[in-house]
Amino acid sequence: MSVLNILRPDFMREESVAQFEDMVGKFLTAHAPESRVAKWRKEGIVERAMWTEAGEAGLLCLMTPEEYGGAGGDYRHEVVLMEAIARRQVSGFAAALHNAIVAPYILHYGSEEQKKRWLPKMASGEWIGAIAMTEPGAGSDLQGVRTTARLDGNQYVVNGQKTFISNGQLADLIIVVAKTDPARGAKGTSLIVVETADAPGFKRGRNLDKVGMEAQDTSELFFDDVRVPTSNLLGLEAGMGFVQLMQQLPQERLTIGIGGVAVIERALDDTIAYVKERKAFGQRLIDFQNTQFRLAECKTEATVARVFIDRLIGLHLEGKLDAATASMAKYWVSELENTIVDTCLQLFGGYGYMNEYPIARMFRDSRVQRVYGGANEIMKVLIARTL
Ligand SMILES: Cc1cc2nc3c(=O)[nH]c(=O)nc-3n(C[C@H](O)[C@H](O)[C@H](O)COP(=O)(O)OP(=O)(O)OC[C@H]3O[C@@H](n4cnc5c(N)ncnc54)[C@H](O)[C@@H]3O)c2cc1C
Repeated sequence: MSVLNILRPDFMREESVAQFEDMVGKFLTAHAPESRVAKWRKEGIVERAMWTEAGEAGLLCLMTPEEYGGAGGDYRHEVVLMEAIARRQVSGFAAALHNAIVAPYILHYGSEEQKKRWLPKMASGEWIGAIAMTEPGAGSDLQGVRTTARLDGNQYVVNGQKTFISNGQLADLIIVVAKTDPARGAKGTSLIVVETADAPGFKRGRNLDKVGMEAQDTSELFFDDVRVPTSNLLGLEAGMGFVQLMQQLPQERLTIGIGGVAVIERALDDTIAYVKERKAFGQRLIDFQNTQFRLAECKTEATVARVFIDRLIGLHLEGKLDAATASMAKYWVSELENTIVDTCLQLFGGYGYMNEYPIARMFRDSRVQRVYGGANEIMKVLIARTL
C-alpha cells in the first residue's frame, strides 16, 4: 500500500513535511514502542509522561502559533502526526484531540489572556485537554444538554454530568458545553473552560471499560456547583457555544476520516504481508484467487479513500471545507474502515482474532469511529440537508 504515496498531493510531499514525518517517526519509535503501548492498554490510560515527552519534542499544539508556545505549523503537521499514531497503532494517545480539536477552540474563540494562559501549558504537555459535550441523556441531540452554568456575580456555577469524555481521567483543562440560558435552547449554550486543578465540586467518575481503544481514558465527569470565573467563557458573549461547535466540528470529522484511512492502509499492509507468508492447501494464501480479488477490491477502495481525504485536507487548508463534505468523510471512511479491517481479519484466520495481532486491535478500535464525533446517522442527516 505504501505505493500510494505517489498519489499524495504536493502539499503533503513538501520537503519540510517529509522531514517532520521523519521526526515524528523517530519520536514514536523511541517513546511509543509496542511494550510501552501495551502497558498503557493494560492500565487503561496513557502515562502522563508521554504527554510531556511529546511536548518537549514539539509535537503538541502543532497548529498553535509560536507566540502561544505552539509549533507554528499548519493542519498538514497534524495530519502527519495523526497518521503516524494511527499507522503505528499507538491508540490511546489522543494527541489529535488535544492538538486539533481542543486547542483550536481556545485559539479561535479565546481572548488574548486566555490564549496566553492555557495554550503554552497545552503545548508543553503540562496540561492535557478534553472537550465535554456528551451527557448520559444527550449525545446525538446536543441541544438536549442539561449541564448548566448559572451566572453568579463574576462566576459561573456549573452543574451537570458528562460521559464518554476522552482524556477524562487525565484532563487538566476541559471545555464544557453548558446552558448559560436554558430557556433559549441552542442559543443559550456556551463553552466554558474548567481548570480541574482547583475546582471544588468537580469529580471524575469511572474510567470506562470499552470494546477497544483500551489505552484511551474515557470517563464520566461530574460537576456539582463548580465555580469558574466568567473570564473562562470562550467567546465574547454567552450563547455562542452552538455556533462555535458547528464551526469546529468539520475539522473533528475530517480528523476521524484521516485516522480511518491511515488504519485502512496499515491493515492492508499487514494483511498483504501475511497472505504472502501463510500457506494452506499447499499454496500461499495470496495464490487463491479469492484472496487476490478481495485485496484488489480493498486496495481500490483504499486508494479512492486516500484521494478523497487528501482532497479534503487540501480544501481544509484553504479554509473551504464545508460541514456536509466533512460529514461525508467521517461517515464513509469509517464505514469503509470497518469493512476493510473485517475483510483483512478474515484473511488472518484464527490469528486475526488474537489480540497479539495488530489486526485484532484495529478491528476493535475501528468500531467506535462510526459512533463518536457524531454517529454516522447524524452525518447523513447533515449531508441530507444539502440535497
Ligand atoms: C470511545 C468514545 C470516546 C468519546 N469521546 C468523547 C469526547 O471526548 N467528548 C464528547 O463530548 N463525547 C465523546 N464521545 C461521545 C460520542 O460523541 C457519542 O457517543 C455520540 O455522539 C453518540 O451519542 P450517544 O452515545 O448518546 O448515542 P445516541 O444519541 O443515544 O444515539 C444512539 C444511536 O441512535 C441513532 N440515532 C441517534 N439520533 C439519530 C437520528 N437523528 N437519526 C437516525 N438515527 C439516530 C444512531 O444510530 C446512534 O448511534 C465518545 C464516545 C466514545 C464511545
